[in-house]
Amino acid sequence: MKTSFILSATVAIRDTILSYESELESLDRAIGDGDHYINMKRGASAIVEMQTELEPLTPDAALNKIGLKLLSTIGGASGPLLASFFMGMAKVIKESGDESVQTYATAFAAGVDVIRQRGKADLGEKTMLDVLIPVANQFTALAATNTNVQEISAALIQTAEQGMLATKNLIATKGRAASLGERAIGHIDPGAKSCQLMITTVCKLIS
Ligand code: ADP
Ligand code: MG
Repeated sequence: MKTSFILSATVAIRDTILSYESELESLDRAIGDGDHYINMKRGASAIVEMQTELEPLTPDAALNKIGLKLLSTIGGASGPLLASFFMGMAKVIKESGDESVQTYATAFAAGVDVIRQRGKADLGEKTMLDVLIPVANQFTALAATNTNVQEISAALIQTAEQGMLATKNLIATKGRAASLGERAIGHIDPGAKSCQLMITTVCKLIS
């Protein structure tokens, strides 16, 4: 993966987030405090504004810088978690020194693991991890069998959607929605939705 692809992805992600304003806002209003769209918009826009700064960097350095920027621009629970994802991913790419699909799969999984550790959360707690963990597992498995990137992208789009939809019937045990108990049932988790949107956007750029 080249830095130019990362730059295209950041623009596409920003556009996707902007076009899902009402959905992201109402999801967080239903089971959170309503700021998730604003948080995501602020982060995505700040990254797009860094294009000229990111352009000359290697992919790992660009991803690390994206993480640092998110840390300083997105508030809430999601900011530091998403920031740590990009920094965790950057670390693996830097250490591996190559740009293969396998490396990106390993890096993605490492990024998800950092979120897991930082957020002290796991699968089934009605968070972004309900999208990220299944996607990381599938990405790793498909990359290991040398599946081509188009097929991987198509599979990850489906898995992300399933993970996002699955949060609807869960009780939250992490994040703001945890205080709602059974009242959170029937609502998709906003962080799961935005992660599904970001993954789908990037996969569509590939396929
Ligand atoms: P806040 O909850 O502080 O208002 P946001 O609204 O931006 O921040 O983000 C909320 C999202 O963050 C949730 O929908 C959930 O997906 C995610 N989240 C919250 N806590 C955790 C956690 N401990 N681990 C993983 N994800 C979390
Ligand atoms: Mg919120």
